[in-house]
Amino acid sequence: MGESETTLQPNPASRGVACKLCGGSHFKLRHEWPVGDYWNQTTIPLALWDCEDCGLCILDPVPKAEEYPDGGDWHSPKLRNLARKYRFKTWKRALFDRLFGSKKQRFYRQCKQAVSSGSFLDVGCGTGELMDLAAKDFDEVVGVEPSSRAAAVTRQKGYTVHEGLLEDVALEPGHYDMIAMDAVIEHVLDPVAIMRQCYDALKPGGYLGMVTVKLDGPANRYRGSGWNGYRHGWHTVLFNEATLQACLDKAGFEYVRRPRRARPLDDILILWGRKPLSAPVSIGSQDTTTAPVGAAA
Ligand SMILES: [Zn+2]
Repeated sequence: MGESETTLQPNPASRGVACKLCGGSHFKLRHEWPVGDYWNQTTIPLALWDCEDCGLCILDPVPKAEEYPDGGDWHSPKLRNLARKYRFKTWKRALFDRLFGSKKQRFYRQCKQAVSSGSFLDVGCGTGELMDLAAKDFDEVVGVEPSSRAAAVTRQKGYTVHEGLLEDVALEPGHYDMIAMDAVIEHVLDPVAIMRQCYDALKPGGYLGMVTVKLDGPANRYRGSGWNGYRHGWHTVLFNEATLQACLDKAGFEYVRRPRRARPLDDILILWGRKPLSAPVSIGSQDTTTAPVGAAA
C-alpha cells in the first residue's frame, strides 16, 4: 500500500546459484528483510532461501564486508552493543550458565568425551574461552580467528592463533586430534569445503565437533522471522540435523552420535564427525582413492 515497497530479491537460481549441499537449483523464499527493517542492520535487502531438494537454507545475496556495520567484525564494540540490543544474551541465559556452566564449558565437556588429549584446534576461537578450557587437557591448543581484535586478545594469553578465515589458513595435514567449531559453520559460504579442510587437518580417528543454531527448532518456530538464530545478514547458511549430517557425510566424515546426539527439543545442534581410522593421513590432491567426491582441487 504505502510508498515503502518491499523489493523481492531475485531467486538465487535465476543467477545460477546452486545448493552447496546437493547442487540443486530450486529455492523457495523463507524470509526477507528489506533495507531499514528492524532486523536488517546491513545496507542491502536480506533474503533467506530454502533448497527445495535438500532443505539447506542459504542467505542470498551475502552482503560484502563494507555492507555490514563495522565491516562485519563481530568482535567490534559497536556490534557487541547491537548484540545486546537484540538480546542475543538474555538474563535467562545468564542464570542457566550459572547453574549448568557456560555454553563453552558444556561444549568442552563433550569435546573431552570424544578426545581427551593431543592437539586441539579451535576454529573461530574468538577471545580464547574454549582454548582456556582445552589447555588444561591438551598438549597443543591452536586457534583460527578472522577478527584481528579477538585474535590479538587470544595471542596475549600465549596461544598460537592463525588470523584469517579457515579457507585462507594453511593447516598441517593429519595433525589434530580434535577440531572444534562453535558457531562457525553457519557463517561460511561453502560448509562442505570447510569440513573437508577440517578432515584434512585431522588425524585418522580424529573428531570434528560443531555447534550451530537449529533451523526449524522450537525457538525458530516460535519466533518466526524475528528468531535470533537467523543473525540477520550474518548467518549465511542454516542447518537442521539432516542437512548438517549430510554435509559431514559429503566431506568424508563418519557421523557419530557420541558424545551426544541431537534432540528434538534442542535449539542448538551439536554434531560430531569422525575421520575414519582407515583414512589416509591426508587426502591431499594426489591420493583420490578414498577422498570424498570432489575434494581434490
Ligand atoms: Zn540442496
